[in-house]
Amino acid sequence: MENDISFNLQTKTVRLNSGYDMPIVGIGTYSLTGATCVNSVSTALQNGYRLIDTAYMYHNEREVGEGIKKSGVPREEIFVITKLYPSQFNDAEKSINEALEKLDIDYIDLMLLHHPGANDVKAYKEMEKAVREGKIRSIGLSNWYIKELESFLPQITIMPALVQNEIHPYYQENEVVPYIQSKGIVVQAWYPLGGRGHQKELLNDKVLKEIAQNHNKSVAQVILRWDIQKEVVVIPGSSNPAHIKENIDIFDFELTAEEMQKIASLERNEKHDWY
Ligand code: NAD
Repeated sequence: MENDISFNLQTKTVRLNSGYDMPIVGIGTYSLTGATCVNSVSTALQNGYRLIDTAYMYHNEREVGEGIKKSGVPREEIFVITKLYPSQFNDAEKSINEALEKLDIDYIDLMLLHHPGANDVKAYKEMEKAVREGKIRSIGLSNWYIKELESFLPQITIMPALVQNEIHPYYQENEVVPYIQSKGIVVQAWYPLGGRGHQKELLNDKVLKEIAQNHNKSVAQVILRWDIQKEVVVIPGSSNPAHIKENIDIFDFELTAEEMQKIASLERNEKHDWY
């Protein structure tokens, strides 16, 4: 039997196939740089977040590390995800060491390959080695779909703990999500609110607004709760303290089966980014 990846709504965590527990709501840091990134990370941590998503490509790993120190929250309570970009795959060992140096948090909780690309299997094997060396605790993939997983998985040793893909009510990945979960791999949504530039339309969706009113919650909270009820981890991005607080305040209400169905019917297969 596959490992159990059901969400624990008391602890607000999920146990990865690597044996580590990961929070099911976190903050995404794409497009947050400099002091904005430091402050967003520390604000999130001071407001109960324990999961942070960054990447080499976001050019902010150093600032994420600074935000962690600034928050005063002990490092061991925090779960940090970062990613190797395809341009780094050919020399992944060096890139892993650089990420460790920039983050300055002793070890990386979870490292993902950001996209499929040349040398991705080679890079993954370097991450496997880093797991054995204690530099990384868990490893996974981002922007991998069914076809890509079917050819990738037979070539590697450590099963990915998590796959991070674009998921929101207008792009639900209704076949991909259960496929990944059936392998005991946790699914995480990027662009949960539709992504920068697209969030306005989603946050003004009539169906979502009506559901939000039923619960006295915001549309953002309804979308994030919908993910959680589908056992999909969320990492909404924001530098606005009010939004940061709002986005983790999703554990005091529950969407009905009918509301979940209404949101399912919003699917448009509308991708908001190219990968
Ligand atoms: P998002 O969908 O999380 O947010 C979109 C916009 O919504 C932002 O402009 C934000 O200001 C706004 N917003 C946030 N909370 C709000 C609220 N409560 N009310 C109203 N507006 C709100 O988009 P994102 O931040 O780009 O994506 C989330 C995270 O996913 C990123 O930060 C990054 O960590 C990750 N990501 C990963 C990939 C990948 O390829 N793996 C790609 C894109 C993003």
